[in-house]
Amino acid sequence: MQTKNIAIVGSGLVGSLLALYLRKRNYSVTVFDRRPDIRTIEFSGRSINLAMSVRGWKTLDNIGIGDEVRKLAIPMHKRTMHVTGEPVYHQYYGKDGEAIFSIPRGILNKKMITLAENAGVVFRFNEKVWDIDLPEAKIYTGETEKSEWKEYQYDMIFGCDGAFSRVRHKMQRRSRFNYSQKFLNTGYKELGIPPNPDGSHKLDKNSLHIWPRGKFMLIALPNLDGSFTCTLFMPHEGENSFETLTNDDQVRKFWKQHFSDTIAIMPTLLNDFKNNPTSALVTIKCYPWTYWNKVALVGDSAHAIVPFYGQGMNAGFEDISVLDEIIEKLGDDNWEAIFETYQKARKPNADAIAELSYRNFIEMSSKTADPEFLLRKKIEKRFAEKYPNKWMPLYSRVTFSHRPYAEALETGEYQAAIMDQVMEMDNIESIWDSDEVEQYIFELLNAKKYNFQN
Ligand SMILES: Cc1cc2nc3c(=O)[nH]c(=O)nc-3n(C[C@H](O)[C@H](O)[C@H](O)COP(=O)(O)OP(=O)(O)OC[C@H]3O[C@@H](n4cnc5c(N)ncnc54)[C@H](O)[C@@H]3O)c2cc1C
Repeated sequence: MQTKNIAIVGSGLVGSLLALYLRKRNYSVTVFDRRPDIRTIEFSGRSINLAMSVRGWKTLDNIGIGDEVRKLAIPMHKRTMHVTGEPVYHQYYGKDGEAIFSIPRGILNKKMITLAENAGVVFRFNEKVWDIDLPEAKIYTGETEKSEWKEYQYDMIFGCDGAFSRVRHKMQRRSRFNYSQKFLNTGYKELGIPPNPDGSHKLDKNSLHIWPRGKFMLIALPNLDGSFTCTLFMPHEGENSFETLTNDDQVRKFWKQHFSDTIAIMPTLLNDFKNNPTSALVTIKCYPWTYWNKVALVGDSAHAIVPFYGQGMNAGFEDISVLDEIIEKLGDDNWEAIFETYQKARKPNADAIAELSYRNFIEMSSKTADPEFLLRKKIEKRFAEKYPNKWMPLYSRVTFSHRPYAEALETGEYQAAIMDQVMEMDNIESIWDSDEVEQYIFELLNAKKYNFQN
C-alpha cells in the first residue's frame, strides 16, 4: 500500500512530536513553520519554562524519547511559598517523591525538531501558511497575504499552529463550526533570576517558587544552568497592574512593597521588565476539530487554555497519545472514523482542563496563602494518604494520573462539596486529624456512593 503524504502546520512542541509519531508509522511527513529554524537563532522574548507532568511524559516515553528529554529537566517536588510576613514554607505536590519537571520551552522544542528530522521528517521553515483547501487538503504558503503563493497537495493536514491557528481559521468559516475566545484581564511578563557566580541556584532548585499576592503573583521555575525563569502574572489594568508600571521608579517602588525578598536575587529586574513583552492569556474553545478524513486540529489550535494548571502542553501531548491509540485500535485505513473518535474522546477533556486551569489561578494567587484553605488541604492529604483507594486529591488526579480531565473536574467538585461540610464541623482546627473527621468523610462518601476510580 502506498504511504500517505501528511502535512503538519506548526513545528512547536505539539507539531514536532506529532511529526515523530506519524513518521514512526511510516508516513511521509512535512512540517511547515512561519518561523525560522529555532535551532539556528537565539531563543528570546517568551522562552517560558514549562512544567511537564505524567501525561506529557507518557507521550514521550511511548515513543522512546522520555529519558533523553529527562536529561533537560529539573524535578520540582513541591511548591515553595513566599508569603508576605511569614517564614518560607513548602507544600509537597504528591506522594513518594512525585514531581513535576521544569523544562525550557526552547530547548525542548529544538530537541524534538532534531529527533523528528533524524527520523526522516522534512521541515519547511520560514513558510507561513496563509490558506488551506479543506476538501482537497491543499496548503498555500507565501511571504505575505498578497504575494504569490506556493501550493502543496497532501493526503491529510494536521493543524498544530497554536492558539491563533490559520488552519482553524479556515474551518471557522464553515457552517456549524463553534468557536469562542476569552481573554483574562490578567497578563504575564517573563523575568529572570541569574545563577550564583559558581553556577549554583540562588533558591531551592527542586521547587516551584510562588509569591502569592492576591490579584497578582510571581512564580519562578529552575533551569539547568543555575538560573530561574520567573513569570509575573498581573492584571493589565486597574490597581497593581501592568498599566501602572510604566517606568523604572514605579517598578522599583512596587517591587519594594510587594516582592522585597527578591530584590537581591533579581539584579536584572528593571531591564527585564522594560525589554520583555507583556503578553495576554486566552482560553480558546472550538468544535469540530476535524474535517472529514482530511484535516485535524491538535494541541493549542484546538484548545488553548490559561497556564495555571501547567497542563497546556501536557494536554496537547495527550492528544497525540490518544490519537495514536485510536489509530492502533481502528487500523490506519479509515481516517474518517479515526478523526471522529479522536475529537469525541478529547473535546470533553479539553473543556474540563480549560475550566480547571481557570479556577486554579484563584487557588494559586490567593488561596495558597489562606489558613482555612491550608487546613482543608491538610485534612484532604491526610485522608488521601491513609485511604488512597478512596480519595485522590484533584491536583494529583490532574497532574499525576492518566484519568480523564473530565473525570478530575467532576470528582474534584464532589470532593470540594464534601470538604465544605467537613470544614463546617465544630472546632475543626483542633480535631482535623481525629477519627471523628475521618468517620465523617466516610459517611459523606458512602451517602453519595460515589465511585472513585484511582
Ligand atoms: C505563560 C505560559 C506558561 C505555560 N506553562 C505551561 C506549563 O507549565 N505546562 C504545560 O503543559 N503547558 C504550559 N503552557 C502551555 C504551552 O505553552 C502550550 O500549550 C504549548 O506550547 C502548545 O503547543 P502547540 O505546539 O500546540 O502550539 P505553539 O507552541 O504555539 O506552536 C505553534 C507553532 O505553529 C507555528 N505557526 C503558527 N501559525 C502558523 C502559520 N500560519 N504557518 C506556519 N506556522 C505557523 C508557530 O510559529 C509555532 O511554531 C504555558 C503557556 C503559557 C503562555
